[in-house]
Amino acid sequence: MIYADNAATTRMSEAAINTMVATANETWGNPSSLYGFGQKAKEILEDARARVAGAIGAEAREIIFTSGGSEADNQAILSAAATGKRKGKMHIISSAFEHHAVLHTLKKLEKEGYEVTLLDVHENGILTAKDVADAIRDDTCLVTIMYANNEIGTIQPISEIGAVCHEKGVIFHTDAVQAMGHLKVDVVRDNVDMLSASAHKFHGPKGVGFLYVRKGIGITNLIEGGAQERGKRAGTENVPGIAAMAKALEDAVANIDGYASKLTPVRDRIIEGLKKIPHSALNGDAKRRLPGNINFCFEGIEGESLLLMLDDKGIQASSGSACTSGSLDPSHVLLAIGRIHDVAHGSLRLSIGEDITDEEADYIIRSVTETVEYLRGFSPVWRDLMAGKTPFIL
Ligand SMILES: *Cc1c(COP(=O)(O)O)cnc(C)c1O
Repeated sequence: MIYADNAATTRMSEAAINTMVATANETWGNPSSLYGFGQKAKEILEDARARVAGAIGAEAREIIFTSGGSEADNQAILSAAATGKRKGKMHIISSAFEHHAVLHTLKKLEKEGYEVTLLDVHENGILTAKDVADAIRDDTCLVTIMYANNEIGTIQPISEIGAVCHEKGVIFHTDAVQAMGHLKVDVVRDNVDMLSASAHKFHGPKGVGFLYVRKGIGITNLIEGGAQERGKRAGTENVPGIAAMAKALEDAVANIDGYASKLTPVRDRIIEGLKKIPHSALNGDAKRRLPGNINFCFEGIEGESLLLMLDDKGIQASSGSACTSGSLDPSHVLLAIGRIHDVAHGSLRLSIGEDITDEEADYIIRSVTETVEYLRGFSPVWRDLMAGKTPFIL
């Protein structure tokens, strides 16, 4: 089996599993309890907080542990919106190809009277700091732009966007779920005020993540209850999960150069191989993309059929994000970069992991090439294209 769906989730590292099991076995007390055994759990929690903070250039008290990336996105956006409203600022800027954790939260705010501008991400899937600068108004309370896209892997000029926001006094949040552990992230260099991350995207456990909040930025809690997380996120902390996340993040950051230099050539080898398929196109910028991301459109086929047949060949891939697969709508990300519906339906995302070999990369190229050819063989859409009844787009 070749697992090429690391953007959906990653396998937990052995070190993260060991940390999780050891913490659950040995330090299962409640970190809010005052006796020694509880305080031992508290020590593990605070040690993890310091290490997570250290991995992104933050201070420990700027980290709030959450149940994952979605919760962190919700909390960041709703907090900045609440702060804005108090100052009479109810305009928010984001992009058209954010994760649904961001887009659906913004939809909710629109119903409450906020105005949302979704910036175009251009054909290459990258927006510019100037796009953001031009959209900022006197009543803008938040700019939220993802660090790297989960479907097409394109990397945004986060530091430049952050600089523009700071110049204009607007809060800047970035959904860094796909970047964390895969790219070098530094909250100071990147000029971010808030940042979301999720452990299961960097070989940590599912159901745990964190929100970085620069000190001085107001934050509202979504979950009422006890005074955990400095009163900003109630509920007994998932100590084993948090300890495992800290371990996974530390390991990923320590290996980040090796990760990129291992994966980038394999990524490019697969891209070059798949480009040879007629009437196909790479989605997103060829170079400014995550080291493990490959995303293609193949004209005349359905992405779902392709990925099911690849599954039979032992390759796990995706036709878009895990959240949209299962629905018949084409990916909002591919529509955002200008792919028309018919073309966007024939998409394939491969998000490879570090354990991939050159032989496996070649097997992927061969399998995708054969399967696309096979599916086109009985596709009425392809027949019409070949007969010249409808024009080729790609
Ligand atoms: C996976 C993902 C999320 C959601 O994170 P969860 O921990 O699964 O809630 C948010 N944003 C992006 C870009 C993602 O890839």
